[in-house]
Amino acid sequence: MIDPFGRHISYLRVSVTDRCDFRCIYCMAEQQTFLPRAELLTLEELERLCGAFIAKGVERIRITGGEPLVRRNVIWLIERLGKRIGDGLKELTLTTNGSQLARFAAALRAAGVRRINVSLDTRDPEKFHAVTRRGDLNKVLAGIDAAQEAGLEVKINMVALRGLNEDEIVPMMEWSHGRGMDLTLIETMPMGEIDGDRVEQYLPLSVVRARLQERFALDDIDFRTGGPARYVRVRETGGRLGFITPLTHNFCESCNRVRLTCTGTLYMCLGQNDAADLRQVLRAGNDDRILSAAIDEAISRKPKGHDFIVDRRHNRPAIVRAMSLTGG
Ligand code: SAM
Ligand code: SF4
Repeated sequence: MIDPFGRHISYLRVSVTDRCDFRCIYCMAEQQTFLPRAELLTLEELERLCGAFIAKGVERIRITGGEPLVRRNVIWLIERLGKRIGDGLKELTLTTNGSQLARFAAALRAAGVRRINVSLDTRDPEKFHAVTRRGDLNKVLAGIDAAQEAGLEVKINMVALRGLNEDEIVPMMEWSHGRGMDLTLIETMPMGEIDGDRVEQYLPLSVVRARLQERFALDDIDFRTGGPARYVRVRETGGRLGFITPLTHNFCESCNRVRLTCTGTLYMCLGQNDAADLRQVLRAGNDDRILSAAIDEAISRKPKGHDFIVDRRHNRPAIVRAMSLTGG
């Protein structure tokens, strides 16, 4: 699949649920309304859709959410997709908040998953509870232990939050690198309706990087994981540190991905509202050629780039759907 700007689309992110057992302050409102279950694609439908994308050249699939591991029977889907590794699919990965990881780590590995991302913004139990509004840090840490024991490569994702975890970036990096895990820092993106003020949360990673450089030698490296992160090697720890900077650096030129939601809506760009309804096509019949044509039509609409503009007059984000719908 080649889009109008010559970009090769080989990466599909699949959000298998919009539900979550956390309510992270930058992602959701405290009283988040979730989709009625009837709106969701079944796991069989998700498998068929993923199969159609693999047939069209998708080589990497990342399962995300909401919290993917709270979707009932999600392991069935992961196992089915795992069987496609080597048969079109090169890699199957997962992004999780880690709360259920202790239970699922071994099954994920057995299904063919080799790398996972675990989101962890703080290692202070009280702050963790405050940022996630309900999470138990110990469960997540136990999940990370279980994942490493099961032989999964773990990368930690940390959203940089002004005044909240700024002082934890260095300890998080030293802890991650000490355990052989990469750390990626993420800037908050203005998506979804949350309760707090996003401008207050926003901490530019250019500032973080400048501060880190006062203490550490950061060498730019070419390492890429197929995502938008740019990596440096930290000389003092020997570990890798990634930066995802959607607001201070435009990463659209090399965008190779599209995002499927749990309702079968395909978003061609995280930072735009345009989408294609593949559920309707999927449910209209079993002809995969029609599905394939609908995917082609959607890819032909992939925009050049995003513009995360905050609608200041109404103090609302330009992208009203939450990150939990498209999975980041
Ligand atoms: N629940 C899983 C998790 O937290 O890892 C997967 C879905 S979550 C939406 C995927 C990633 O998006 C997480 O690393 C999370 O921190 C990040 N995220 C959520 N809302 C965000 C926002 N507004 N800006 C930047 N990153 C965000
Ligand atoms: Fe849930 Fe992940 Fe959003 Fe946090 S960031 S509320 S864990 S979906």
